[in-house]
Amino acid sequence: MELVFDGHNDVLLRLWRTMKAGGDPVAEFMNGTTEGHIDAPRARKGGLAGGFCAIYIPSGELILKEPDESGHYVTPLSDPLPLGPSLEVALEKAAIALRLERAGGWRLCRSTADVRAAMDEGVFAAVLHMEGCEALDADLDNLEVFYAAGLRSLGPVWSRHNIFGHGVPFAYPMSPDTGPGLTDAGFELVRACNRLGILIDLAHITEKGFWDVANTTDQPLVASHSNVHALTPVARNLTDRQLDAIKESGGLVGLNYAVTMLRPDGRDNVETPLSDMVRHTDYLVERLGIDHVALGSDFDGASIPEEISDAAGNQNLVAALRDAGYADEDLRKICRENWLRIMASAWHE
Ligand SMILES: [Zn+2]
Repeated sequence: MELVFDGHNDVLLRLWRTMKAGGDPVAEFMNGTTEGHIDAPRARKGGLAGGFCAIYIPSGELILKEPDESGHYVTPLSDPLPLGPSLEVALEKAAIALRLERAGGWRLCRSTADVRAAMDEGVFAAVLHMEGCEALDADLDNLEVFYAAGLRSLGPVWSRHNIFGHGVPFAYPMSPDTGPGLTDAGFELVRACNRLGILIDLAHITEKGFWDVANTTDQPLVASHSNVHALTPVARNLTDRQLDAIKESGGLVGLNYAVTMLRPDGRDNVETPLSDMVRHTDYLVERLGIDHVALGSDFDGASIPEEISDAAGNQNLVAALRDAGYADEDLRKICRENWLRIMASAWHE
């Protein structure tokens, strides 16, 4: 079994919904459930040893627009969200993460030494990520508090606009060049992340925002859960120019398991073969090199191929990559070592 440290999941969103419905999120994670994709038993079974766990503020249920006769669709961007209610949700999700840590359900990791130790002990290694910074104020006071609570990664925007920048819609086919990039507050956020040692994630940002970050940050460029635009031309995927910039910076792309970002037709259909995942991985490895490709499942955040189904099926992808010719050393890099190197760099270790 090849242990995986994964670049993106939304398990905190599912656990938060459980809590809002009156359930016990800590017990759900530790004892397991049939809901969604990740819990401790299924993660153990699938070798999912840890990953970035997103604090994401939902804009209600995301429903993709139906494709027209030619298979094209444009899902309108969600409306911007106000700070107060967003902060409340973010604190509730951070509280679930902290309670899970106290209960021994997972380890909240603040360094790569923490991640390696948790993985060695067989405890899920969670790193707190913020996917869209609606819960942060322009003066970044909240950022200080979330950092102290364990936040070590953030994407300035999700697929909507906020005070820091602009996100891309869920649309097929569409270029990621859909509008403006970072605001002045967004540039300040990037500089603050550089200072504090918080990894900056470029998933969901417009192409203009991508270049704004690239021209400002001192970190390697990272897209935690994005795929190849040349193979699946959704606005969320990365163009060859973006991939080349990521390579040049020494950064990384995490392969997203979302079927809409893997299938040539961009459809939300879980009958998506593992060969589509291998094809995106091959393209990324050819364009970036083996040291710059990793995994970013989007477990609990997207429809994923039925051959994986949930965290317990994670090794099915590893097996498909092995069958496609990836050696043990390559798989070690893709599955965890590349992420560990990038985290160490962004976190000033
Ligand atoms: Zn996402």
